[in-house]
Amino acid sequence: MKRQIKKWAFRLTVTGLLIAGLLLVIVLNPFLTYANKTTHNNFTVYHNQQIDNLILGQLDQAQKIIKQSEFYNSNLQLDICLNDGSNYTKLVETIGGRAFARGFYDKVVLFGSTDYKNNFVELNGYKWNLTQLLAHEMTHCLQFDKLGLWKSKPLANIPKWKWEGYAEYVSRQSNDQKDLSKNIARLIETDKNNWEVKFSDSTISSREYYDYWTLVQYCMDIKQMSYEKLLTDTTSEQNIRQEMMKWYGENKNERTTSY
Ligand SMILES: [Zn+2]
Repeated sequence: MKRQIKKWAFRLTVTGLLIAGLLLVIVLNPFLTYANKTTHNNFTVYHNQQIDNLILGQLDQAQKIIKQSEFYNSNLQLDICLNDGSNYTKLVETIGGRAFARGFYDKVVLFGSTDYKNNFVELNGYKWNLTQLLAHEMTHCLQFDKLGLWKSKPLANIPKWKWEGYAEYVSRQSNDQKDLSKNIARLIETDKNNWEVKFSDSTISSREYYDYWTLVQYCMDIKQMSYEKLLTDTTSEQNIRQEMMKWYGENKNERTTSY
């Protein structure tokens, strides 16, 4: 009996490993599940339907944004996987959960429905700026490229605020997104019950990611830390937030009195 159980346990483990291996092969090779691919500069775009050429300009724009990252690597080749009927996005969504997009290893995968003309991805009634979304996910690819698989999330134990906050920090480069004081003010003015924080173009960030972004922006713009330094810094999220709000309070007063 015991031998039988062992035999079945072994069979189940082998089957599990084979399925996991197969899924990994599919996820790493989008050409298996897409009908078409279009190459453009450093990008290979995988799509099932005719490609809207607007995305090529949006990819160039996103690349311009991520050039500001200290992790930028001009040789990095990225796969961009569109959500236009391939089972690929369904598979990645099943493994990783529902999101606007995902960036891992050398892949950027879009979910939701994309409006290229108006430059946004819509999911559950919320709109995320498409160019900035691409830049956000590409930043994750830069993190993987620089730190390596084992030192990247989810394998490495990097606090979520440093991982996601940095992708937001790099990608949010519109004129009304650069000033930390104004960014904190926008967060404070947003109803605490709202899931999202809205920008002037009526696209959003989730409140959680927005909060992470301000923390990273405080560490990098005000404390002048590099991202590599921030990753090794041991100050807790709570302490950084306290410090940042103290800075915000002082800075706010200074601004008022200087008028
Ligand atoms: Zn992210």
